[in-house]
Amino acid sequence: MKIAMIGTGYVGLVSGVCFSDFGHDVVCVDKDPRKIEMLERGEVPIFEPGLDALLEKNVEAGRLSFTGDLAQAIEGAEAVFIAVGTPTRRGDGHADLTYVMAAAEEIARAASQYVVVVTKSTVPVGTNRQVKQVMKKANPDLDFDVASNPEFLREGAAIEDFMKPDRVVVGVQSERAADVMAEIYRPLYLREFPILTTDLESAEMIKYAANAFLATKITFINEIAALCERTGADVKQVAQGMGLDGRIGNKFLHAGPGYGGSCFPKDTRALARTGQEHGVPLHITEAVIAVNEDVKRRMIDKLLDMCDGTFNGKTIGILGVTFKPNTDDMREAPALTIVPSLVGSGAKVRVCDPQGRREGEHLLPGVQWHDDAYKCANNADLLVILTEWNEFRALDLKRIARKMATPRLADLRNIYSVKDAKRAGFEAYESIGRLGFI
Ligand code: NAD
Repeated sequence: MKIAMIGTGYVGLVSGVCFSDFGHDVVCVDKDPRKIEMLERGEVPIFEPGLDALLEKNVEAGRLSFTGDLAQAIEGAEAVFIAVGTPTRRGDGHADLTYVMAAAEEIARAASQYVVVVTKSTVPVGTNRQVKQVMKKANPDLDFDVASNPEFLREGAAIEDFMKPDRVVVGVQSERAADVMAEIYRPLYLREFPILTTDLESAEMIKYAANAFLATKITFINEIAALCERTGADVKQVAQGMGLDGRIGNKFLHAGPGYGGSCFPKDTRALARTGQEHGVPLHITEAVIAVNEDVKRRMIDKLLDMCDGTFNGKTIGILGVTFKPNTDDMREAPALTIVPSLVGSGAKVRVCDPQGRREGEHLLPGVQWHDDAYKCANNADLLVILTEWNEFRALDLKRIARKMATPRLADLRNIYSVKDAKRAGFEAYESIGRLGFI
């Protein structure tokens, strides 16, 4: 089967590479010439574990290629996937569908035979019908179907998630489109991963409902964590006790500095907006958005307490700035709220992140970058763990404490414990939802 993939970001590139690994012929398109030049040289423009090797393998096998020319990519394709960005539209929280509609129009103008246009981007309910209208208007004679195929992969584990999904959701309006989609995902049917076929609207809604639910779960435990800090309970024990209940489950119950990333913030905003537009306010989702902002602000207050009430003149080391480990993605990372607030209040901020520097250099002006956690801690007044990269999980805390001007550790991912910090010689340790000491 010949497939074209529009957009070579985190979702488009991983999907394109994995489809080619299924044995399909895939052409990936991007309008960013820098990305296409890199891909043509065999370089991967994003950091995603395992992606470089899988890409190389499939390019060598002749099943995967890259181009900036959409018309060339879709020639002869039976399915064209739209995997472009759907960021928050300025001002009203709605998903910005400009890129999706532009791609749909381009496909319609370039296509000359039956094709299934599959929206992989996360788009609000009703969008696929709009895509159909846009395409019909651009090319009234074209024979085509639309399909909704939202993506659930997680950055940092994207290949595994794509190859072994909990489920694949496919929204269609015709048998013909359903058959094309079944053919594309056949390798997964054979391995017995569930493929759920729905109508267009349900497929679109599943993606937002799932993300809003996960964001709610994280935010719930973050709010409970705040209460634990006041009452002496330990949120790690509380989460464990909750998570052992099969109806709740232990995933997404790790308290932290607030959710960020390329999906939860924008998708919760877009869902809340959709609710407002339809006269069905989604109070829970709206509360989650507001509480998550409070959580991030609370982190700044916590750090301020650890700096004796002022950041001015303090040297603060930050370990991790990406929104989670194993990705270089900085979109809406808690670091983007916390670090500028420290810099703006007169702190000297040093940052260490295994993959975040390329993006972070533009986004976090006024900080000093270090490759090494220990250098970051040298003569610092406070060290903050913001992202739980593996390399920060087994630090020599004694060595860190010795190097610091005032050995104080803010562990915003609950990697260590009061006992670890005391044993290492820290004079202050704070984490999330557990009693610390100053
Ligand atoms: P991204 O910003 O990393 O990539 C989008 C790419 O599309 C860019 O490279 C851009 O240049 C390209 N593009 C835009 N318009 C184009 C056009 N007309 N022709 C060709 N290329 C074009 O975005 P992403 O993180 O991959 O997300 C894509 C979509 O998938 C979004 O809707 C997102 O919500 C959804 N999603 C993302 C994730 C994730 O973890 N990142 C997971 C699930 C779903």
